[in-house]
Parts: sequence; C-alpha cells; structure tokens
Amino acid sequence: MTDIASPQGATDWRRTLPAVDRLLQHPALRDLESRHGRRVVTRMARDTLDALRATPLDAPPNETSIVDALRERLDAFVSPNARAVFNLTGTVIHTNLGRALLSEPAIDAMARVARNPVALEYDLATGGRGDRDDLIEALLCELTGAEAATVVNNNAAAVVLTLGALGAGHEAIVSRGELIEIGGAFRMPDIMAAAGCRLREVGTTNRTHPRDYREAIGDDTGLLVKVHTSNYAVEGFTTAVNEAELARIAHEAELPLVVDLGSGALVDLARFGLPYETQPHEAIAAGADVVTFSGDKLLGGPQAGIIVGKRAYIERIKRHPLKRALRLDKLVLAALETTLKHYRDDDRPDQTLPTLRLLTREADDIQAAGERVLAGITTLPAGRTARLQACMSQLGSGSLPVDRLPSVALVLDVDSPRREVRERALRELERAFRKLPRPIIGRVKEGALWLDLRCLMQGDEALLATQITRALHAAETPT
Ligand SMILES: *Cc1c(COP(=O)(O)O)cnc(C)c1O
Repeated sequence: MTDIASPQGATDWRRTLPAVDRLLQHPALRDLESRHGRRVVTRMARDTLDALRATPLDAPPNETSIVDALRERLDAFVSPNARAVFNLTGTVIHTNLGRALLSEPAIDAMARVARNPVALEYDLATGGRGDRDDLIEALLCELTGAEAATVVNNNAAAVVLTLGALGAGHEAIVSRGELIEIGGAFRMPDIMAAAGCRLREVGTTNRTHPRDYREAIGDDTGLLVKVHTSNYAVEGFTTAVNEAELARIAHEAELPLVVDLGSGALVDLARFGLPYETQPHEAIAAGADVVTFSGDKLLGGPQAGIIVGKRAYIERIKRHPLKRALRLDKLVLAALETTLKHYRDDDRPDQTLPTLRLLTREADDIQAAGERVLAGITTLPAGRTARLQACMSQLGSGSLPVDRLPSVALVLDVDSPRREVRERALRELERAFRKLPRPIIGRVKEGALWLDLRCLMQGDEALLATQITRALHAAETPT
C-alpha cells in the first residue's frame, strides 16, 4: 500500500526550503527589516516557512514566491485590526462600524490629553481634588436645561446605573410598548433585572393609557420609566402616554420619572430637513427627573452615556458604587467636551459635526460625488457594470427607524442572465472589497451590490474609485 498522505516527493521539497537565517539574508527581507524591525520580520519568516511546509504543493516554491508570501503575511500582521473602512452601507450611524465620526477639534482634544497630563480630577482654582464630571457638567446643563449631569461608558450603562441607584429593590413601571431590545444584548427586561429592579409591565404592545400607570402604582413602586422605542415603530392604532403626562402621574405619587431617550439629538433635526426626534431639553422641560442618552448616536460624539436631571437624583446616581466602574476615561471626556461645545458655540453644528453633516447631506451633492467616482473607475472588466442610482439611506442605531434619507448609490452588477452566476460573482466581489487595504462595506440588494455614497468623505472619491477598480479586477470574472 502506498502512503498517499505524505508522498516521497513532498517530503523532499520540504527539506529544500531555506532555513530562517538564510531567508533573512534575502535583499527584500533586509529592506523589510529596516522598516519593520528584526523581531517582526523573523517571526514572519518562520511563520511563512511553517505554513509552506503544512501546505500540499506540487512543486517546491521558489525564493521569490516565498518572499511574496512573507510580504503578504507581514502586511496583514502589521495593519491595524481596528481598520478604517468605507461605510457605504447606507446606514449613517452604524453600530458595527463604530457609529459617529468625531470632528477634527474633538480628535485634536483626544490627542492633547493623550500626550499630556491633564487636570482630570484636579481643581485648578483651589489646587484641591476635583471631580471628572466637572469637565462637562455645566455644558450638559446649559444644553439640556437640567440641574445636574453625569456621564458613563455608554447609554446602556447609564440606564443600568440610573435604575440601580433609584429603583433597586423596587418595581419599575414600563409600558409593554416600550420593552425594547437593541442590537446585541440590550433588552429592557434584562437590564431591569441586572439593576435589581422588578419590572412591572403595563398596557399592551400598541396602547398604554394614563390609567394603566396609575393603577400599577403601589407601595412597592420605585420609579416610572419611559423608553424611546428604538429599532422599530408601533404604527396604526396606538396610544402612548407622553413625558409631560407621565411626569404628572409620577410626581402625584412622589416617584421619579426616568426617560431613556436613546439617541438624544441636541438640535432640532427638523430644522435640517430630518424627521423630528425628542431632545433631552424637551424631556426635562416636560418634567422628566432623569434623562439618559448616547454620546455616539445623533449627538455625533464619542461612545458615552449621558445622564441629566434633578440634582438630588443625579447625586444618588453618582454615589452608586457602580459609577466608579462605569466612568469615562480622559480621552472620551475630552472628545465629549469638544463635541458639546460645537452645540454651544457653533452657528452651524450640522456642518461642523461630521455625523450631522452626513445626515443632512443633499442628494445632489452625493450625486456629484458619485459622478466623480464613476469617472475614476477606469476599466471595468468584461461582464461587470457600474451605474448610479437613487436610493434611501437610514440614520441607524435605532434612531427614527422608519424614516429614510434620499441618497445616491453606485450599483455594481454582473451582466449575466444566469442568476447563480450573478450571485456567485457578487459574493466574490464583496469578498474582494473586504480584502482591500481600506475595505469597502456595501449592501447586496436586488441581486446587485449597492454602495450608498452618502458617507463617502469629501476628497475620498479618487481613492474609492481606484480601490473599486482594483477589487473588480481581483474578483473572479463571471462566466
Ligand atoms: C441605543 C439605545 C440604548 C443603548 O445605548 P448605547 O449607547 O448603545 O449603550 C439604550 N436605550 C435606547 C432607547 C437606545 O436607543
């Protein structure tokens, strides 16, 4: 019986592979070594040779192909895992792609506090100990009309901390229409349990009335909670109790009303042609005692959970032991401060904040960018087509889930009557896009690959065109 698993020939060429030390003498590797250092290049040489030994090959690889394989391995090894990508999905605030983009001043602020010691918990007026929340509290109070404010790692943390501080051991009353789940594992009932509150559901999925809340209030009630219904909309025959009415019901029973706003836009989005969204200052004015919202959704800042409200409640929240575990670091605080100052000081925060700029971008402007990209795609392989087509983008991250923004997409298609050929070619193209130095993330729709150009940054058109051309040629041509 012959041993087909390890034929004699294969064993032989494996022995002919160069030793690591000899491979390192190759001029190309010396060059790589001067750029990346000996440690990394030696590791890549060893890994490349190990990989070659483990791969069944018909013929021994020559030195050039070994060096090429090493170079490719090295490129992948040193390029950052948190890779910059083109978000052409059509979802502007995309959780899986890092949500909001920061303004240049906010990025500079992060770099400044990363590079230097910073008066984080140090009161420069007195020389005594300070509180890191002091860096942003006055700003948040001015922008929301609240008496006091604090910040934590994200809005999920803000909700857990608030419920834990104000309602642990008690019942929290919530409408059944607001028992939301947000991508990942944020489910209101589970959050309540984690915070030590007992969930008391009232009303039905589509209708909840004031009397539902009133009848549920008892000795055990700790607070009333209103949750912005992210990710879905209950439409048609619906009734919900608004913040003002709910605040009245809560206050009659001397209970706090907590509002989880989710997105928390700090400007009236309707002013920029976007759909209306409740702002934190409106919830505060309506009587909410505590309002929580995200830093990196419609606010356009870093990941953070912002908690604003009545001083007595905010003090209790700040004293909760979990606050220390959920606090923000100096980089995020610096970026958040700068982001908030755009709202306080700028004439057009919708232009200075990149996320708002993308959300309010006109379809004409996107069309013009699309024409520049299309003109830059120099050679289209046979069988591939590219065209511009109107489409709709969405805000994302559960903001205003049913509303859409008119946009323009570059649609890449395959010219074949056979459906399976087109589908295979599209998958192939998506894969090629993901492998690019700056991966392109689009969306497959109606049997074509749609690249919504809303989030293509000004000046990136030529780079995108070059990369698309490269990927189109790298992907297998459909047959
Ligand atoms: C997004 C959202 C959250 C979670 O906020 P993160 O900042 O992602 O932690 C909580 N509640 C609502 C209503 C939301 O929309």
